Amino acid sequence: MAEGSLLPPRGGTRAMSRERQNDRRSWSEAPTPVIYEADESLLAEARARGQNALRVISRLQRSGHEAYLVGGCVRDLLIGRAPKDFDVATSARPRQAKRLFRTGRIIGRRFRLVHVRYGDEIIETATFRRAPEAASPAGELLITEDNEYGTAAEDAVRRDFTVNALFLDPFSGEILDYVGGMEDLDDRVLRTIGDPETRLLEDPVRILRAIKFSTRLDFRINDETWVAMSSCAAGLDRSAPPRILEEILRLLRSGTSLGAFKQLRSCSALEPIFPALHEHLEHIKPSPGSDAKAHNFWRLLEALDADVQSGERPSNAVLVALMIHDMVDATAPIETDELQGSTIRAIAKTVDATLEPFTRAARLPRKDASKARRLLTLQGRFTLQGKQNFRPLLFCLIEDFEDALALFRIRSRARGRGYDIYQGWVDRHLQASELSEEEVLAERKRGRRRKRRRRKRRK
Ligand code: ATP
Ligand code: MG
Repeated sequence: MAEGSLLPPRGGTRAMSRERQNDRRSWSEAPTPVIYEADESLLAEARARGQNALRVISRLQRSGHEAYLVGGCVRDLLIGRAPKDFDVATSARPRQAKRLFRTGRIIGRRFRLVHVRYGDEIIETATFRRAPEAASPAGELLITEDNEYGTAAEDAVRRDFTVNALFLDPFSGEILDYVGGMEDLDDRVLRTIGDPETRLLEDPVRILRAIKFSTRLDFRINDETWVAMSSCAAGLDRSAPPRILEEILRLLRSGTSLGAFKQLRSCSALEPIFPALHEHLEHIKPSPGSDAKAHNFWRLLEALDADVQSGERPSNAVLVALMIHDMVDATAPIETDELQGSTIRAIAKTVDATLEPFTRAARLPRKDASKARRLLTLQGRFTLQGKQNFRPLLFCLIEDFEDALALFRIRSRARGRGYDIYQGWVDRHLQASELSEEEVLAERKRGRRRKRRRRKRRK
């Protein structure tokens, strides 16, 4: 183990030397870790939840390699949250690691990882990497290559935030801290590793990650990191659009989207990502007597959070529809009580115009964009009760009904009305799903007969 390391007594996982704290800016020289000892309950939790990752680590270690649990799972175990998944970092090169596992597969070209499969679970096993040498023109910090192998110390310092860079050996119980992450975990602070501006310019998506972690874990963003987030936000337009889209969808699905979008806006990150939404929120001037309108977007996010917190998992199309709902509604009111083609076309056209720049810039898959459009154009039907030519049971059977209803539920929650209508549709949907094929056919025929009768009458 590295010299000069500190091994606090069992259970005393919070000790840390002052030198290390003051050393925060000199991590380019290979740092030595402060070593903490994880307490037994944490290790028991790791064994219970991360059984397969522990199998991978045990195999790697028995073959003479260094191997640890890393990243989000160590952070989450330490703060008593259930980890989403368990990632492993090792000194073994991808081919060496792959050879050790029957179900091991090397994936990725630029960024080679080994996936070890146990039934449905995949354990991502990454070789220690170091930050690449700046090969790009002077002053250009954006990292585009990230595939040079390194040591555990180098792997720790190329990570994004101190609390994400802890290594746990689940068998010895040692936690290796190269970056002061344990102390930040204790203080519930999110801090970039190294100089915040440099690290955020290298990869501006870290700005979105900072917001994601701080809202999800309820961690404070350290002041220097926050200042750098604001000054580097404009750089987000140079990041790969699919990565941004993925993070935005994660924020929306986090159950804390309201706080996340408020933070996005206040550190000037919304404008480079979604200029139209930024403009909309900046410039919407509520007319007298309808001042609630300006807050619709935030109400929708609040309702979305309540929905997620109650266990729902909205699809990408629902999330996209929610993001543009307010902008569309301002031009073509979504709550129409007619089934007329012209009204529906007006909504569809506005959705297209609103989504087009976003689809182009964020490379939103066409299928998500067109599904979002469909969900918005279908909203009016939920309040069409009693119209003669409307067959509610058949409506329940159309493709995308469930997503359209999810959107209606969130909209009802946001407006504080219409929840009873939503519940009526839940019952009807159940009823429709129990119809036999013959009953569906009969319902269809009845609809057609009515239409024919109406046409005749018009003639
Ligand atoms: P989650 O619980 O959302 O999975 P996580 O911390 O595990 O959180 P991942 O996106 O799964 O986040 O990434 C795993 C680890 O890889 C992170 O904890 C961090 O150490 C490192 N990492 C991920 N993205 C970056 C990045 N953009 N820059 C530097 N390090 C990163
Ligand atoms: Mg993870």
